[in-house]
Amino acid sequence: MSDQPIQADLLISGATLITMNAERCVIEDGSLAIAKDRIVAVGKREALEKSVVAKETLDGRRFVMTPGFVDGHIHITGDPLTRGFMRGAPEDSWSDKLQKWVIPIFRAQTAEEERISAQSAALSMIRYGTTCFLEAGTVLQLDAVMDGLAETGIRGRVGEWVEGRAFDPAQDQAKLSADAIAILESEIERYPDDGEARLAAWPVLVGHSTNSDDVWRAAKALADQHGIKVSAHMSPRAGDPAWFLARYNRRPVEHLSDLGVLGDNVALTHLADIDRSELAILAQTGTHAIHCAHAAFQGGFGLSRIGLFPEMIEQGVNVMLGTDGIAADILSSARLMGSVFRDARADQDLFPATTMLELATLNGARGMGMSETIGSLEVGKKADIVLHDTDLPEWGPVFDAVGQLALSASPAGVHSVWIDGVKVLDAGRTTLIDEEKLLADARQAGKAVIARTGLPNRTPWPVI
Ligand SMILES: [Zn+2]
Repeated sequence: MSDQPIQADLLISGATLITMNAERCVIEDGSLAIAKDRIVAVGKREALEKSVVAKETLDGRRFVMTPGFVDGHIHITGDPLTRGFMRGAPEDSWSDKLQKWVIPIFRAQTAEEERISAQSAALSMIRYGTTCFLEAGTVLQLDAVMDGLAETGIRGRVGEWVEGRAFDPAQDQAKLSADAIAILESEIERYPDDGEARLAAWPVLVGHSTNSDDVWRAAKALADQHGIKVSAHMSPRAGDPAWFLARYNRRPVEHLSDLGVLGDNVALTHLADIDRSELAILAQTGTHAIHCAHAAFQGGFGLSRIGLFPEMIEQGVNVMLGTDGIAADILSSARLMGSVFRDARADQDLFPATTMLELATLNGARGMGMSETIGSLEVGKKADIVLHDTDLPEWGPVFDAVGQLALSASPAGVHSVWIDGVKVLDAGRTTLIDEEKLLADARQAGKAVIARTGLPNRTPWPVI
C-alpha cells in the first residue's frame, strides 16, 4: 500500500455504511471519501482518518449511509402536476380511463409545464433517496424536460412518447412506424449516453399493444448499436395477452421473443399476467423485469394470485423496482412487494430486508446497465450517496441497520444526498433548485393543465 495520502474533497466520518459490496459488508463507525464525482475511499473511520486528506470533513455519526436508490419506472410528466385529480369513476373501464382521462391530461401539457413536472418528480425522488431513475416513455417535450432535469442534479434515462401502431385501418401503418422511429433516432442523437452522462435518452416505448413490430425492432437495434437499453410497459392485466393472442396467436413475451427484441438490454414493466413459458423466455434472454408494487396492488392486477416475481428471482431474472410515480420512495415499493408475496405464499422468509435493499440498489443499477458505476459504496464508483438520519423516534438504537432501514425507517429520514459527488440535498432541503418557487409553479401549472382539458373533478365525496 502506498504511503501517499488519498486526496479527497469530502470525508464523511463515523457513519454506519451499508456498502452493498460483493460481501455485503456493513461498516460500523465507517467513513467514505469523495473526490470530484467518485468514491475514493471506504472503510473504518480510524483507517481512513490516517489515509485520507480531505478538504472538508462531515460528522456522520448519526447516519446510516447507503448508495442512492434506483427507481426503475416513473412517469415524470403528467402525474406530478395532476396527482389527486380523479381520472375516472368506478363505472369507467380501464381503457376508458386511459383514453378519456390519462392521455388527454398528458396531451394538455405545455413544454413549460412538462419541465416543471419533471423537476417536481426529481425533487420528490431526491428527497426520498432516489438518485437514478428510468422514465416510463411518456415525455412529450423532451428538450424542455431534459433542460429542467439538468438543473436538479439527478441521474436518469428518459424517453420521448412513441407509439407507431395503426389501430384504425385507414391510417398509414408504414408512415406511423417511420415517424416513431425517427423520434427514437433523434432523441438518442440529441441526448447520447456515453455511460458517464448524468442524463441521456433511451428508446423507451409506451409498450402494451401501442408499438408496431417495426418500432420494436428499431428500438432494439438502436439499443444494440449504442450500448443503451429499451424499456416498455407490458402485461399489467389480461388485456395485453388477449390482444397479442388474438393478433399473433402468441402471448406478449413470446411475440417479442419471436421478433428478437428481448435481451439483457431490455427491461419490461409490470409483467403481472405472464405464464411459465414467458417466464422461461425472460430468464433465457436475460430480459429485466420492473415491478411497480403500488401500481399492481392499488390497480388490482391480481399479482398476489398470479404473479411470478418470486419465481423470476429464483430463476435469475433481474427484478428491479419502480414507483410508477404513485409512491414517493422506492423502499415502500420493496416493502409492499415483500408483504404481499409473503402473505400470498404464506412464506415468512420471502423477500427479506436484504433482498429489498438489493432490489432498490444493485438490481436497479444492473437493470440500467450501470453496475460498474452505481449501486454500491465502493471505490471507483460514482458518489451517489444517501445519509439516513437515525436521530428519529422510529430508529431507536441501531442494532441492525439493514433490517431497520428496509422494514421500518421513514423515507422522511433521508437527510442528505449526493449525486455525482454533488450535494443535492442538505438536511432535507434541495441545494440546486428553489423548492418554494418550484412547488408554487407546480400547483399553478397543474391547475392550468386540468382547466385546459375541461375535465370535471370527480371527487368521491361531495365537496361543499
Ligand atoms: Zn407506467
